Amino acid sequence: MENGKIEIRCKRHNCNRLFMNYHVTGENIELNLQGIELKCEKCKRVLRMKRYTEQMLVECSADGVFRI
Ligand SMILES: [Zn+2]
Repeated sequence: MENGKIEIRCKRHNCNRLFMNYHVTGENIELNLQGIELKCEKCKRVLRMKRYTEQMLVECSADGVFRI
């Protein structure tokens, strides 16, 4: 998955809306997303992002998709 792209998508069943793409840098940077609120325009779910590191996104993704 290094230097690949991770799609960050809504995890709700039958939603799967794409929120954003993340391009892996290979440097395990810390992503300062803490406190950012996202609203899924499709299922209307509101979620607040936590502190993530690049490594977390890579490790918790499957087939290039991270569900949040
Ligand atoms: Zn959704």
